[in-house]
Amino acid sequence: MKVGILALQGDVDLHRSVLESLKVQSVLITSKEQLDDVVRLIIPGGESTAMSKLLVSSDIYGRLKERIKQDSISIFGTCAGLILLSNTVLDGRKDQVSLQALDVAVRRNAFGRQIESSFKHVEMVTGGFIEPAFIRAPKIENISAKVDILGRLKDSGEPVLVRQGKMMGATFHPELCFNQDCNMVHRLFLEYTEEN
Ligand code: GLN
Repeated sequence: MKVGILALQGDVDLHRSVLESLKVQSVLITSKEQLDDVVRLIIPGGESTAMSKLLVSSDIYGRLKERIKQDSISIFGTCAGLILLSNTVLDGRKDQVSLQALDVAVRRNAFGRQIESSFKHVEMVTGGFIEPAFIRAPKIENISAKVDILGRLKDSGEPVLVRQGKMMGATFHPELCFNQDCNMVHRLFLEYTEEN
């Protein structure tokens, strides 16, 4: 079954390459009708305010809300994608929407400006580590007991990769990462959602 990649804005192509390297086909989603063909979706990093506008104007937002309510779709949100999945967005624009599918509060741009972006060491709860890019990344400031932590920053211990049922979110860009086990995060998403 193909994995959808929301392709309204942001880092779409590299997610496609990671999936290809795992021999998984993907389909770029640009309309609400296309959503009906997938049960797994990646929302890439980019700019959550821009994506929010495009989600609403294309009505993909409405269709996604329905699918989430029906529990018929698994979503992996990375960076801006995590912001769009979250219950609460701190330092967001007033008109910015979120899907409220992950019970966390995230603060946008919490590490500072674009120039403060860096690769950081993430310890995976499942073992091993990765060193992906954090680009004007959000921070998870509040996390409900319903949410599992899958990865933490080595330095501070703060959660950067989380999962709640069919929803998974990363504050970083797992597709922009150069150590050996980088595709581990995509593999986890595929593994957790295989039975869907
Ligand atoms: N700061 C961006 C936002 O608020 C997210 C950055 C990213 O996805 N790399 O949407």
